[in-house]
Amino acid sequence: MIDVKNVYKTFFVPHEIQALHDVSYHINPGEVVVVIGPSGSGKSTFLRCLNRLEHANSGHIMIDGVDVLAPKTNINKIRMEVGMVFQSFNLFPHLTVLENVTVGQTSVRKRGKTESAENAMNLLNKVGIHAKADNYPAQLSGGQMQRVAIARALAMDPKVMLFDEPTSALDPEMVGEVLDVMKALAKEGMTMVVVTHEMGFAREVADHVVFMDEGKIVEVGTPEHFFTDPEHERTKLFLSQIL
Ligand code: ADP
Ligand code: MG
Repeated sequence: MIDVKNVYKTFFVPHEIQALHDVSYHINPGEVVVVIGPSGSGKSTFLRCLNRLEHANSGHIMIDGVDVLAPKTNINKIRMEVGMVFQSFNLFPHLTVLENVTVGQTSVRKRGKTESAENAMNLLNKVGIHAKADNYPAQLSGGQMQRVAIARALAMDPKVMLFDEPTSALDPEMVGEVLDVMKALAKEGMTMVVVTHEMGFAREVADHVVFMDEGKIVEVGTPEHFFTDPEHERTKLFLSQIL
């Protein structure tokens, strides 16, 4: 489903930083991959390169047969294939919950208004927030906003969902409701790449865990491997700091 080969990404401002250094990775359909690593290790850049929010400098990224880095590949095509959920929700503040989940369907997917609204209500139902359809984001809790953001991403019928620290901005009591939605999605067979510090989620849901440091993938394994017998010193150090 996702094939990443020899990807490099350098930022030149404010100073030169190699955010991704020769990253290669392969993700099968239906697989859930949790990416962990210290701050600044390139986790967000990795996700953002997958949907071309950042353009990798070199390498190859294929998602379900779509060549993400090819100049001829339409950005909307990628955005339809690859849904993304951010730490900071990024909902449209001037649109209602329902409109947030409808707008991409009508503008990018070119669906009719009625069909889009119906689909949106189904998705809001699925994430348990249909009662708030006519509210504005500012009237919701963080956990509710994040569930709307997930519904909005799903409305495009993506093949892949990317989550960048989806629960890091939430009050602790709201983390569970968002993780539950993500777990349900994983169970349905969605291909997911999740950057998170929620090691309980990683243990329970991840097929593979990827540890990144300094722009490189340092270690890959099952949750079992990571939490019982990590191989590299840097992995051990990181896990000892967060567990
Ligand atoms: P993580 O998500 O693991 O914390 P990031 O992918 O955000 O790491 O960042 C990796 C490195 O790239 C960091 O050194 C960060 O400062 C740098 N970086 C990320 N985005 C940008 C950007 N838009 N411009 C300049 N530097 C960036
Ligand atoms: Mg990040």
